[in-house]
Amino acid sequence: MTSAERRFPDVDPPVEPGLEPYWEAATEGRLVLSRCAEDGAALWPPRPFCPRHASAGVRWEPAGGGAEVYSYTVVHRGEGAFAAVAPYVLAYVQLDEGPRMLTNLVTSDGRPATEASIGQRVVARFEQQGKLPVLRFTQSH
Ligand SMILES: [Zn+2]
Repeated sequence: MTSAERRFPDVDPPVEPGLEPYWEAATEGRLVLSRCAEDGAALWPPRPFCPRHASAGVRWEPAGGGAEVYSYTVVHRGEGAFAAVAPYVLAYVQLDEGPRMLTNLVTSDGRPATEASIGQRVVARFEQQGKLPVLRFTQSH
């Protein structure tokens, strides 16, 4: 497989009840976060309830999409369908709104990134792969 052909495999994440606002926005390429109605904390993964306050009151708000690489590794031997994609970056990124998430970094044309640095500024982007849009991050300019 040449580097020009490398793509992450299709995924089929489960759509759980109550997360329709997240998936509807993602389909349009927008990132929204659920926030606790009691203290305003951004919840990740998106949830229709706050596990900390055991309350069902959340509000959905747009996120800016900006984030910073908190930690990362370059995977050289991927498992299963990811084996053909390696090398690729698996990273923890921290959104400007606070939540930290495990994700992949991609290049501006959507290919798996092969390098990263801690503190690197990245921006959210959704890629339609399989049935649903997948949240990944690319270098911001
Ligand atoms: Zn809460």
